[in-house]
Amino acid sequence: MSLAPLDSTKLKITRVQTPSKPRPNEELVFGKTFTDHMLTIQWDATKGWYDPEIKPYAPFTLDPSSIVFHYAFELFEGLKAYRTADNKITMFRPDMNMRRMNKSASRICLPNFDSDELIKMIGTLIEQDKHLVPEGNGYSLYIRPTMIGTDAGLGVSVPSKAMIFVILSPVGPYYPTGFKAVKLEATDYAVRAWPGGCGDKKLGANYAPCVLPQSQAASRGYQQNLWLFGPEKNITEVGTMNAFFVLKDTNTGKKEITTAPLDGTILEGVTRDSILTLARERLDPKEWIINERYCSIKEIAEASEKGNLVEAFGAGTAAVVSPIKEIGWNDQHINVPLLPGEQSGPLTKEIASWISDIQYGRVQHSNWVKV
Ligand code: PMP
Repeated sequence: MSLAPLDSTKLKITRVQTPSKPRPNEELVFGKTFTDHMLTIQWDATKGWYDPEIKPYAPFTLDPSSIVFHYAFELFEGLKAYRTADNKITMFRPDMNMRRMNKSASRICLPNFDSDELIKMIGTLIEQDKHLVPEGNGYSLYIRPTMIGTDAGLGVSVPSKAMIFVILSPVGPYYPTGFKAVKLEATDYAVRAWPGGCGDKKLGANYAPCVLPQSQAASRGYQQNLWLFGPEKNITEVGTMNAFFVLKDTNTGKKEITTAPLDGTILEGVTRDSILTLARERLDPKEWIINERYCSIKEIAEASEKGNLVEAFGAGTAAVVSPIKEIGWNDQHINVPLLPGEQSGPLTKEIASWISDIQYGRVQHSNWVKV
């Protein structure tokens, strides 16, 4: 018997009796409040995907022996929907998140699914709660698709039961009063990801171990870790964002934008891909070089000493870009230039508006936006 595919036409919807009222924008705290409904879809290895359900947001009941609790059979995604100027609600590049979600699922033996079908169902879920999508630049609806293994029992083996669920959280701008450049601690005593590991997948198991080094960095006055890897001390990522550096290339006089290559230790960020694509499309190649290459902390320290470090920023869905002002590395303080009186460099600012203009529908870009 063939397994049932994920099928949006089978979606059952049970609505809440009394829809909640939108909260004032200033009360929206990232990931603390959720909309009225959630999407759940069960799977098992003998039947395939069960009929999907949208129902009131509520706790789950799971057996305490469920494999998600013991062996971290869990993966997630993070993307956003935006209320555009003409009052449509759109998702930004959801196909990229669905592709990444399927790759994460494959890595921990959870089932794959048809991306377009899940995107359609997330669209229907958003439709139920569309009055809760906040309005205004920087405001959006954070979408958290998740998949867990749900088999009851303590054996470690390929899951035969799983569930996808999707919850929605109305969120405000990451920087409510404009950019706030961050200080990073270059970290090599703890490693986020390694060759042959699974740091390029969005598994919950990659995140919990990073909180201790982050709180240690915080105790020393740094907001985030700049994750280094290997004897070369290559820069991999910053906190939970991809890392970008802008350097003056002394040979050509051009400016170089660099970010780490996707070598299996780097999360394939949707924002990272969007920035590289837009930079290649929009920046003049006579003045700019765009490179995915290894860049060590020593190279950044030297570039800073010589006045060749131009800008640095993290890139991710939550903040789009997060400017970096200082990196602590052993006893050194590597300073990153900012625009006078501002909290970012000019390219960081420009990239933020390139992307938000597309997200809020002020500028069109191929098929990046899904209504
Ligand atoms: N790296 C890590 C480790 C992350 O968790 C994230 C956020 N998902 C990113 C990079 C940025 O990815 P995206 O642009 O898809 O949000």
